[in-house]
Amino acid sequence: MVEKLLADVVIIGGGYFGAAAAYHLATKGFKTVLVEQGEVAGGASGGNFGRVQLQDAEPGLSLELSLAGWQRLLRLQEELDIDIEFRRSGSLIVATNHQEWTELQEEQQKKIKAGLNIELLEGREVTRREPLLNGELVVGASYSLEAQLNPFKLIYAFLNKAAAQGCEVLENTPALGFEVANGKIKEVITSRGKIAAGTVVVAAGAWTRTLVKAVGLDLPIDFIWGEALVTEKAGPLLRNYFSLASFFASEQSGADGYQVSLCCTCSTAGNLLVGETMTAGSPGELADEAGYRSRQENLPFLVQELARFFPALVSLKAIRSWRVPVACTRDHRPYLGFWGPENMLVAAGFKSSAIMTPIAGEIIAELVAGSCRFDLSEFKEARARWAN
Ligand SMILES: Cc1cc2nc3c(=O)[nH]c(=O)nc-3n(C[C@H](O)[C@H](O)[C@H](O)COP(=O)(O)OP(=O)(O)OC[C@H]3O[C@@H](n4cnc5c(N)ncnc54)[C@H](O)[C@@H]3O)c2cc1C
Repeated sequence: MVEKLLADVVIIGGGYFGAAAAYHLATKGFKTVLVEQGEVAGGASGGNFGRVQLQDAEPGLSLELSLAGWQRLLRLQEELDIDIEFRRSGSLIVATNHQEWTELQEEQQKKIKAGLNIELLEGREVTRREPLLNGELVVGASYSLEAQLNPFKLIYAFLNKAAAQGCEVLENTPALGFEVANGKIKEVITSRGKIAAGTVVVAAGAWTRTLVKAVGLDLPIDFIWGEALVTEKAGPLLRNYFSLASFFASEQSGADGYQVSLCCTCSTAGNLLVGETMTAGSPGELADEAGYRSRQENLPFLVQELARFFPALVSLKAIRSWRVPVACTRDHRPYLGFWGPENMLVAAGFKSSAIMTPIAGEIIAELVAGSCRFDLSEFKEARARWAN
């Protein structure tokens, strides 16, 4: 048991958003405690590719925050004083048929009008940018210069800086429920005791929906199981992050309930990261350890897709695969703001996470301090039912 703790803010979850919130809150002088049910970066954030994605942002507030996040990331490495392996590199979203290409161009034209620097490429120009790509499968692609970072380094950098400013990080400490009185959370009940909290930040990713049910709130934050693999080091074989336009279309191809949409990139260290198969998750599965093991029967789909698009890469040896639950929402907008009890702030369901991380952390700290420079009402729009 921990001694009875008192905190200005208790953060639940040690992924991208919990860690960013911890850093920004501690920097503002809030006495902050972060509880993580396992190890920090043990959820979706430890299973992602670290791509800083601008061109797949939803127009509107998500795009505005992505642009603000991009500006923050350009100077974050200096601020955190650690190499988070932030490197500029291109991103190609590839259309493989004429319908996808038409839709992709329409979608990207809106973002170009909103100020994003996106190029629309056809034919040979695509393979000129990515020479190992099988050009026979490509109709067109959108390209933008984005970036890559190391998610573990970013999360640990945030948390080390937060800890240096007094934030307490408690791993292996699941939040189990809440003591609520007069419409406010008084205490967070954890496996190691209760923590009295002025504000509670729920940044629990795919687990958010289940957790907030404890206060009578039903937030439609769903999740998918995402599965990926990493190969041995081979150097910078790909110039860009590669993904398929079909990933962003509502209907994706797949077999037996699995959706398969190839995306791949080279890490700074030179490993090839290959994703991803997706399966819709249901909350009951989150408590079952077996769910977190990668499905050997799915991985051949990924290898098949890699062989089709990048025949030269298929001989690389896979060294590890994983399966993680990733929160998502039907309208592709996150939950970011106060919901339910008046002192409960939710930050979950982000579509592009790495790019949003620092700006979401700043927003959370501003909201806790009582004044936020962004109008977040687009994310509210009658999306939840507060049942208390
Ligand atoms: C293969 C793959 C590649 C991806 N690549 C990218 C990419 O390149 N760029 C990008 O932006 N996004 C990418 N994503 C998506 C990205 O990983 C997620 O959107 C992001 O990590 C979500 O961060 P989070 O902090 O909300 O959730 P998480 O990282 O899941 O963090 C939530 C944390 O809360 C903890 N928790 C839950 N319940 C409790 C509780 N009751 N008590 C205490 N702790 C609790 C969990 O253990 C977890 O650590 C990828 C996803 C996959 C599957």
